[in-house]
Amino acid sequence: MNYTRFLTAASSAREPSVIRTLTEIMARAPKTVISLAAGAPNPNTFPFKTATITIENGKPIQFEEEKMKRALQYSQSAGIPELLTWLRQLQIRLHNPPTVHYSPSQGQMDLCVTTGSQDGLSKVFEMLVSPGDNIILDEPVYSGTIQALKPLGCNLINVSSDEHGIIPDSLKEVLSKWKPEDSQDPKKNTPKFLYTVPSGNNPTGISLAADRKKEIYELARKYNFLIIEDDPYYFLQYTKPWLPTFLSMDVDGRVIRADSFSKVLSSGLRIGFLTGPKPLIERIVLHTQASTLHTSTFTQLMVSELLHQWGEEGFLAHVERVTDFYRNQRDALLACADKWLRGLAEWHVPNGGMFLWVKMKDIADSKQVIEEKALKNQVLIVPGYAFFIDKKAPSPYFRVSFSIASPEQMDVACQRLAQLIKESL
Ligand code: PMP
Repeated sequence: MNYTRFLTAASSAREPSVIRTLTEIMARAPKTVISLAAGAPNPNTFPFKTATITIENGKPIQFEEEKMKRALQYSQSAGIPELLTWLRQLQIRLHNPPTVHYSPSQGQMDLCVTTGSQDGLSKVFEMLVSPGDNIILDEPVYSGTIQALKPLGCNLINVSSDEHGIIPDSLKEVLSKWKPEDSQDPKKNTPKFLYTVPSGNNPTGISLAADRKKEIYELARKYNFLIIEDDPYYFLQYTKPWLPTFLSMDVDGRVIRADSFSKVLSSGLRIGFLTGPKPLIERIVLHTQASTLHTSTFTQLMVSELLHQWGEEGFLAHVERVTDFYRNQRDALLACADKWLRGLAEWHVPNGGMFLWVKMKDIADSKQVIEEKALKNQVLIVPGYAFFIDKKAPSPYFRVSFSIASPEQMDVACQRLAQLIKESL
């Protein structure tokens, strides 16, 4: 793969920081090396000395003085080595991407830690999107992505979905404006990437079927575009086996996958990771060198200690328990929706994630009903327009989350929603 056509001028111009490179060297150097180089503060002056973190059903994580000093210090921009090694093994186990065995220039699989997946995604967009570029997206689409992409001045082209995810024929229709060979001519401005949330989509709850993924990957090869696989709900799939990912099919090195621990370990710790071809991950790390420097060393160490204590089996067993919790939550919400909203609205059963995407039957626009009346009726939900590029277009949808409310609260909320819809007819 030649990645040159995909990079923005800003990303191409990034150069490694001399100081950051020294930090990497120092982290690997033997203890006998005396560093007078780094601008690292002396951790003996920091007020935090030790910490003990209690783990559910596990051994506590101890930060004795030496470990605490490391946790409070600057670290490598790509992520701390022991966490990266663990994540790399996890990706190989779960996705086994063909690119693991490639050379760096062929697009060898690489990883970097990000401050939540949102940080990784916004850096990916900064790396790839110039004003006027054509970008293809799910419709509806995660509102955080609209927020990150819209200001970049690109053309956001929607592709339609049904209950099995993106409809390949809809993508073919979008692409029919171009010829496959046009990607060699910059003036033709062929789409640079497809962005999609393939498991338990936010807001639709839908997962993209495996055969469709294969068809879409072949279209990416034919028209030479990248695939940005934003998959924070991958670990919250309600049916087994888990669906194969774009990363697992990536024979060319054209997939950048964004993973997140927000839904299964902690959203506030801000730990995500990007997996993709080395030449692109390197660009992201250069961006990190110039922005956050790195994700918090303390939180990386905390997560890494936990993952090493658990091992892959322990992590997957935890994921299973979390998934069981959310599956029960989903079933409770579906029962309440059936009881109160049948006849007034329709929905598909979400097979992953945290959301039910509801379409009101006889109301063309949910904005007014929800923004003006829902709060008065003591229920808070997100109106559908938040997930569309054209915020002014009417949308009969709304998004209901089943992550936090108790089944009793869901029952009352659905009753209030039904009342609200009836009053608005
Ligand atoms: N992508 C999608 C589709 C999401 O729903 C979210 C969280 N709402 C994110 C990315 C960002 O997640 P985080 O930064 O917490 O990993």
